[in-house]
Amino acid sequence: MKHSTALLVFVPLLLGAHTACAAPLTATASPAQTSDGTLRLGDPTGEGSYDVPFFPDARYTERVTDPSDLLGQATGTRMATDLEPRACFEAWAAESDRVTLHEHGASHEGRAQYHVIITAPKNHRRLDALLADNARLFDPRGLSEPDGAALLERALPVAWMGYSIHGDETSGCDAALALAHRLVAATDPATRAMLDEVITVIDPIMNPDGRQRILTQAEQMSGYTNSLNHTGLLRGRWPRGRGNHYLFDMNRDWIAGTQPETAGRWQAILKYHPQLLVDAHEMSGLDTYLFYPQADPVNPHTPTGLIESQTVFGTAIAKAFDSHSWDYYTREWADGWAPFYSDAWAALTGAIGILYEQGAVIGNPMRRASGAVITYRETVHHQAVASWACLEALRTNADYFLSRYLSDARRVVADTPENQAVLVVRPRGNETRVREFIRILTSQGIEIERALAPFGTHAALDRFGLQSTEPIDSPAGSLIIRTAQPMGRAVRAYCEFDTRLSAAALQSERESLERKNESKIYDTMAWSLPHALDLDALWGTLPDKVKTEPVTTVPAPTTTRANLPFTPVAWAVDAADDAALYFAAHAMEAGLQVHASDRAFTGGGHSFPRGSFLIRRHENTTGDLDTLIATLAHAAHTTAHPLATGRAPDAGPDLGGGHFHLLTRPRVAILGNAPTSPDTFGHLWYHLDTRLGLTHTILDAQSLSSYDLRRYNVLILPPGAGSIATEHAELLEDWTSSGGTLIALGSTSAALTSERAGLSEVTLRRHALEDLPTFAAVTTRERNARDIAIDTEALYNPQPIEASAPDDSDTSDKDNSKPDTASVANIPGETPEARDAWMRRFSPRGAMLRAETRSESWLTAGCGPLLPALFSGSSAYLTPASVETAVRFTPAHQLPLAGLLWPEAAERIADTAYLTRESTGDGQVILFTSMPAYRGFHLATARLLSNAIVLGPGLGASAPIPW
Ligand SMILES: [Zn+2]
Repeated sequence: MKHSTALLVFVPLLLGAHTACAAPLTATASPAQTSDGTLRLGDPTGEGSYDVPFFPDARYTERVTDPSDLLGQATGTRMATDLEPRACFEAWAAESDRVTLHEHGASHEGRAQYHVIITAPKNHRRLDALLADNARLFDPRGLSEPDGAALLERALPVAWMGYSIHGDETSGCDAALALAHRLVAATDPATRAMLDEVITVIDPIMNPDGRQRILTQAEQMSGYTNSLNHTGLLRGRWPRGRGNHYLFDMNRDWIAGTQPETAGRWQAILKYHPQLLVDAHEMSGLDTYLFYPQADPVNPHTPTGLIESQTVFGTAIAKAFDSHSWDYYTREWADGWAPFYSDAWAALTGAIGILYEQGAVIGNPMRRASGAVITYRETVHHQAVASWACLEALRTNADYFLSRYLSDARRVVADTPENQAVLVVRPRGNETRVREFIRILTSQGIEIERALAPFGTHAALDRFGLQSTEPIDSPAGSLIIRTAQPMGRAVRAYCEFDTRLSAAALQSERESLERKNESKIYDTMAWSLPHALDLDALWGTLPDKVKTEPVTTVPAPTTTRANLPFTPVAWAVDAADDAALYFAAHAMEAGLQVHASDRAFTGGGHSFPRGSFLIRRHENTTGDLDTLIATLAHAAHTTAHPLATGRAPDAGPDLGGGHFHLLTRPRVAILGNAPTSPDTFGHLWYHLDTRLGLTHTILDAQSLSSYDLRRYNVLILPPGAGSIATEHAELLEDWTSSGGTLIALGSTSAALTSERAGLSEVTLRRHALEDLPTFAAVTTRERNARDIAIDTEALYNPQPIEASAPDDSDTSDKDNSKPDTASVANIPGETPEARDAWMRRFSPRGAMLRAETRSESWLTAGCGPLLPALFSGSSAYLTPASVETAVRFTPAHQLPLAGLLWPEAAERIADTAYLTRESTGDGQVILFTSMPAYRGFHLATARLLSNAIVLGPGLGASAPIPW
């Protein structure tokens, strides 16, 4: 379903006949055992079975394999395994000239990702020309009106039909088989017309790893007795079947494509330029069927007339469902705001995205509250009928959909004043982030240019909201992304700093919160790529012509491996680039002694920022050190600069002094299994495993006390593990005090605070309402210490304080830690607790906030003084002076960068902590109050996590000196 995972997705228990796992009857068979000794998986046979033909008007040829011959029973009777659809499609591709099969990648677990093209043989023979026509409709730059009209005359619409992106929403994949079978094998006039007039592409199994996970669980939980599923609703065991291998919700991955399934799918869909994209999901089994038109609000960068077009499809589905007397509804939820869903991505390409949500019935008949019983096969039937109805609507309205597709594409690429807006990204030493940005955009067909000379950006707005009246200069090498391009909608939707809700949408959300304490927002409200990657980005215009070259692929990392003219005394790696962390981690794994600098230094003609790494020759005497370091640097996509002398050429530190701190190799464990949140666990796991490539162990949260934690010096507690942390507080405290680095995130951080597990002096605002002035004073002192400006004259020639003019006094006494409370002065509630409870009602569901980084903290190495940080929820963290607040949110009036932040929330979150560190014995506790590596692409805050993991054991904890 499209809901965030925070909302419950119930999946019912699966039972039924499963011929694929037949086991011999034993001598001890009980009467309950089936006659053939097999566990029941799928619908009942005989009485109670659902034997309605899916497409009664279709007439099938017997020359093409019936899927029931391969499945062992009628399509949809039980969930197909991840391999069975493939077997059907391979058979059909061999038997029929209507269908071809194409791979577009593989899942993490190596399962093929593929799609099939089904259309009339005559269309297959001229497919290249037909797809070229569609590509021209997508990109009409230079296309004359007569040529456009001629194109529309001959073009065929393309439908991309995608199924079961959430692995445990299984009926879609089985419906894809039924739909494909009709298109491949039916000979009736309606099917022939569809083949002649539409190019149908079916993507039958979008998440094979997740599907296989839930199938295995369902099989393991099945028995011999097949009964109605009216008591228990099963979601599957942790980590359930929704996500892919790394438990990513791939219906949130369309914006960044960090997962191979998404990246492969982007490439595939971009070949076809569909006018319709269907994404078939499931929702609670107690629900009926939802389809589009979607709910408000809708992202402003979607095609003109999106809802009207969705209505054409929705009306067709409704008519088909009415003919069966099936229940359905539209518009009650599933809004079109966030640009990272399947249907949203479709819309950003100019297509019409349509979502289906079937009440989930995985195999076992489900009795609803009304008493009505629904079988798995009936749910598959719903998905198949909805699919056919959409294809019919596309076919019968082909002229409308093709011409609106072209006219909207013309609007997007037109040379209009509003299309003059460009995004400029300036290089800032973090090549890893810029390369990731280029990967994300170019893989989606977004055009990027690289400036070959310096240029000025006019009317520039930067990522922190600073609007410049003067042109801002950018150097050669800066990236320019224009909105006037075929994927211009995506450029705006992904990179605009803040997409704002309309007044009507705000009004509606506020009313819902005030009256019912219910938010209508389904998912995070902030996603801007320049914020997530903290790119030095500007929106503006380029009135002067800029000489550029296209950037079509991700540039190779610039790693220098020079022949050494001298024997280096040391090597240094620049920490401005995230790649430095990968290097440091792997250098330590290779047994090297690595130091991190606590201030900037210079060497070999290169300036290294604070946090940069140093490897000294005399401390690393084994093997061919020069080759080893060069190899490690190359693998990390960075450069190890050889240094000929330890003496600083400037006022910076010499290389042998106390500003270079020896690191300790991280030995990392992360807590998995219930009750950790599967998707945020997955984001952390993915970061550890792929971005850092660090050896690590996943510990079972259910058995934490059974491990010898002395093996590890870093322990990561993902969100959701609060009860485990509280239960094992003593164990964790002992381990931390002995030198461990305990890193907690999100809700688990809340569980470690002073008033709960007591592992931290940090406290939640709701528990410290009487002490707010004390915490405010800590913030003020911290900011004052950062912004010290000594008036020497006044110091040595003091004036009586009362002599100050009132205006001066106002300015100098201004406590900038004090939130701007004017807008929330009349918060109802008699007590501080009641007022805080009311304010919590307006907590953000994903807002990008401005945070300040503490420059003396090693946790912030590689970060600028300000950082965009995604925050959601109601936990606001206050820190006493004894706790280092490495990253702190700004005062309220500076706080919002993107997303919806009500004034009540701004006041609560202002000045609170994003990232804290405190010593406990020989170890330390590090709390992230939100998720830093969210969805795999929030790399700006992920850097803080990398710092905590890689630098923590050496810089914040004491390791015993080895013998
Ligand atoms: Zn879903």
